[in-house]
Amino acid sequence: MRSYKAKMVEPIELPSREEREAAIEEAGYNVFNLDARDVYIDLLTDSGTGTMSADQWAAMIRGDEAYAGSRSFNNLADAVRDVMGFEYVVPTHQGRGAENVLYGVLLEEGDVIPNNSHFDTTRAHIVNQGAEPVDCPSPASRDPNSNESFKGNFDIDAGYALVEEVGADSIPVVVLTITNNSVAGQPVSMANIRATAEFARDIDAMFVIDACRFAENAHFIKQHEAGYEDTSVAEIAREQFEHADAITMSGKKDALVNIGGFTAMRDETVFEHAKQRAILFEGFPTYGGLSGRDIEAMAVGLREAVTPPYVHERVEQVGELGDMLSERDVPVYLPTGGHAVYLDAGEIFSHIPKEHFPGQVLVCALYREGGVRGVELGEFAFPGAERPDLVRLALPRRTYSREHLEHIAETAEEVMESAHEYDGLEIVEEPPMKELRHFSAKLEPVSE
Ligand SMILES: *Cc1c(COP(=O)(O)O)cnc(C)c1O
Repeated sequence: MRSYKAKMVEPIELPSREEREAAIEEAGYNVFNLDARDVYIDLLTDSGTGTMSADQWAAMIRGDEAYAGSRSFNNLADAVRDVMGFEYVVPTHQGRGAENVLYGVLLEEGDVIPNNSHFDTTRAHIVNQGAEPVDCPSPASRDPNSNESFKGNFDIDAGYALVEEVGADSIPVVVLTITNNSVAGQPVSMANIRATAEFARDIDAMFVIDACRFAENAHFIKQHEAGYEDTSVAEIAREQFEHADAITMSGKKDALVNIGGFTAMRDETVFEHAKQRAILFEGFPTYGGLSGRDIEAMAVGLREAVTPPYVHERVEQVGELGDMLSERDVPVYLPTGGHAVYLDAGEIFSHIPKEHFPGQVLVCALYREGGVRGVELGEFAFPGAERPDLVRLALPRRTYSREHLEHIAETAEEVMESAHEYDGLEIVEEPPMKELRHFSAKLEPVSE
């Protein structure tokens, strides 16, 4: 059951098979090069692609566009205080802006920063400060078939092993990403949040939470962690932040907006420094690179994210897509995460070697068969990383219906049935930065 109905619609169209074949060839077998109007169901990302509520749109009209001291900023600060419990807030144009502001204040050259798993922009901003990002994912995350509940956890033992290796003085900050985007959107338990906070305190480090999907994470805690069955998502959401010193947030995720972000903290000195850096990179600290209306929509979205039944329906819909795919024997990472379903392309195209990008073959096949756009997160996106060749299907919030999910599952099933007919791909044109090649490189089917 859905607790909302459509008030505004955006037409979408499935181009003919001939048009899809021409479009993917024209795009150099890279779906980032497709025109969005040639895509029927767009699962490239859940970031900033969701549907806002009538309340959010109404709030946009009320947006206060004052350069300094805007009323909309006060509304955001109130929402962050109520929903997340932080006293000080600096708005930014999106999550990476928050990372730039906060890590620019906290890090120095030579620092080492552990995280359950760094998201790409987090990693890049830490490297940009001359520091070294280190991933400490839970060992359970390595098994795609175990149905364990909190595979996004931080591996505390790996954290202490890192302290042994580099010394506690090199680690000024410990980060925890909830949910763990880089590990198939898997959640982190409250017990692990507490243990990671204790680890940080023990080594005299600040504890920072990458809060992008904090509401989805709270939902998983309510569903699966003993003792939280009768606690509201809003209370769990707040409890997650009790032991954190600061957060970075992308409003494009669990603040339910198309653009925006912020960093928030408890320490007044960190706040003062963050504001200085925000002026340099984002804008005056009461607008942070956003219009007042964007800030207003983010303030409302933050509250909606923890108000039932929003997040329950959100995560259950992702689970439903996972179930539809599993029922059709499509290999998916288990259990289904909070924002996306991950398909194992290496298993579907076991005849295609890693260097010919089975993940990218699957992404192109899903587009060609059904106009569905996903994204490759394997050898093409992370060259040489020894990762499984996964394809992510990320669901925008409050956007698609069950009929759309059925179309996605049927498309994947059709691809599975003719999997042996697909050839691998090779890169024919590549940008100078290998780390960014999946955004623009062009490919061709391998000629025997
Ligand atoms: C999206 C995301 C970010 C960066 O946010 P942007 O708004 O895309 O800049 C950081 N961390 C995680 C876990 C994310 O999912």
